[in-house]
Order: sequence, then C-alpha cells, then structure tokens
Amino acid sequence: MVYFLSVKKLISVILPIYNEEANIPVIYKELSTILELISATYDYEIIFVNDGSRDHSWQKIKQLAHLNPRIKAITFSRNFGHQMALTAGYDLAQGNAIITMDADMQDPPHLILNMIKKWEEGIHIIYARRIDRKDSFLKRLTAQLYYKFLDLISDVKIPRNVGDFRLIDKTVLSTLNACREKARYFRGLVAWIGFSHAFVDFARPNRVAGRTGYTWKKMFRLAFDGMTSFSMFPLKVAAYIGIFVIATGSLMFLYITADALINRVNYPLFKWLVTIIYIFMGIQFLLLWFLGEYIGRIHDQQKKRPLYIVADEINLSKENGKAPDHL
Ligand code: UDP
Ligand code: MG
Repeated sequence: MVYFLSVKKLISVILPIYNEEANIPVIYKELSTILELISATYDYEIIFVNDGSRDHSWQKIKQLAHLNPRIKAITFSRNFGHQMALTAGYDLAQGNAIITMDADMQDPPHLILNMIKKWEEGIHIIYARRIDRKDSFLKRLTAQLYYKFLDLISDVKIPRNVGDFRLIDKTVLSTLNACREKARYFRGLVAWIGFSHAFVDFARPNRVAGRTGYTWKKMFRLAFDGMTSFSMFPLKVAAYIGIFVIATGSLMFLYITADALINRVNYPLFKWLVTIIYIFMGIQFLLLWFLGEYIGRIHDQQKKRPLYIVADEINLSKENGKAPDHL
C-alpha cells in the first residue's frame, strides 16, 4: 500500500483588536466556519493581537483560546496602534499565507476563499479592494483627497481603495518583517516590496458593533507616516519657494536697477535693501532644501529597509546564497 504524506498548508489570520468585545465572538464564529470549510486542504491559525483594549476584549479572547488551540493571542501593555498590532501579528504568523483583517466584520471573512484561490494561482499579494464604502461623507472625502495627494507625491504606487485587508505569501512576510522602521504604514510598505499582486473586490459594510478605534488624531498620524515614509516631497517644498523668491527678487532688482540707470529714478535706500533681503531670503530657502536633502537621506538610511528584494533564484545553493562550487 502506498501512503501519500500530505502536509496541509497553513493559513494565518491576524486580527488586531481594540475595544472589540462585542465583535470578537461574531468574527470568530464566522471566520472559523469559513476556515473549517477548507480544513481538508488547509490548517489554520487565528492570531488575536489585543492592542491595549479598555473593555473585556482580552477576556473574550482568552475564553475562545481555551476552546480552540488554533487560536494564538497576545495582549499589549497599552494601546500601540493598529499598525503595531499588525506588526506583532506578522511577527508571530507561521502560515504559508497570512491574512490581516479588521475584527469588526467590515472585512467580510468569506472573501478569504477567493483570496486563497488567487494565491494558489501563484500570486504573492492579494488585496481586498473596496468598490463601495459606507463611511461618513467627511471620512470618504478626506480619504479620497489624501490618497490622490499621496499618489501624486509618493515614490511607490500604492493601490487605491485598499485597506489592511490583504493576503500575503510567506516569501513576502519575511521581507516585510525585515523592515523594522518605526513609522509604519503597511499599505505603502507592501506596495514598496513589490512582487505580484491581484485584487478581490467587495462592498465594505459598516462595523457590526462598537465604534471605530481610529480617532482623527490617529488618522492624521497614519497619514503623516504614509507621507513621510514614502515621499521626499515635503522636503522639496523649500526648494520651490526658494526658486520662486529668487526669481521674482532678481526680476525686481533688475527692474529697479534699469529704472535707476535709464530713467534716473532715485530709489530710496530701503527699497534697494528690501529687494536684496528678499533675494537672500530665497537663498536661505534653497539652503534649507539642501539641509532637507541630507536629512532625507539620514531618514532613508535609518529605516534600514532591505536594499533589494529577491523574488526568485536559479542555481544558487540554499545555504549561503552563493553560486555552486562547480561554476
Ligand atoms: N485597532 C487597533 N488599534 C487601534 C485602533 C484600531 O488594533 O489603535 C484595530 C480595530 O480593533 C480593528 C482594526 O484595527 O480591528 C481597524 O480599526 P477600525 O475598524 O477602528 O478602523 P476603521 O475600519 O474605522 O478605519
Ligand atoms: Mg473597521
């Protein structure tokens, strides 16, 4: 008799939790039902990261973990924010595919099946893309304006209308975990890493219970992290102002000089001085830009991202990444 030793692939699902006591049983029930559906082919682990919740979320997680050993959970000493909760989840995940999603049912668990299907086709990153969002008008408007602006200034193309509901392959995870920058903006980081990607579209419902953990303050911080981590544009603003000021100042200077020489107009000293000081102000802006370029490079360096990322290799020995001896 021949036995086929089949090792099931492992799917990790990471759930960041901040004051979600009412949602935890709901998402767990739905998620485990979906994951049990495919349990013939896949094992799963659900990783709860309790991000310093002030309600009974942690007790709820502990209760579930006693019932199901596939649940892994950690709790932070205080609220470190959504992106840090995701970081901890990624650090713990052991799966062949790793999924991150909201714990409030805004990211429908049944989409996971489509994501896994696409992943099995060999795609490394599968984003869930919102084709319709039910957030407040103000949130939609600010999000839209922000993403347009970020798109314009950032060095990487960050896919539109995607949040942190995504599946990544194990290969992508190890690269992602190698990026230890403190200002984390996963949407940008995942786009920066590269690899193949695809989308699964969905209409985003409202959260089932509780309130959003994203205050305006947290949202602004995330928006700034996104901007400063993926764009040097804010540093270049000084250059544009400097060039404008020097150009207009020089024109002004030329004009009054010509006027004084040709038309013999007698300009008082303060007018000459104002023009010259104005030009020097422009030069100062240019110097600020130079300074900014240096600071930008230090900023880039301290992020300690990998210098390059290898997606695949041929004829390289596994142990040290060097070419085999006979070559
Ligand atoms: N969250 C978190 N820490 C925070 C804020 C939010 O872990 O400081 C979690 C939250 O419990 C949820 C996910 O991150 O599972 C997304 O947050 P939320 O649903 O509040 O954001 P929204 O969907 O409103 O943008
Ligand atoms: Mg949500």
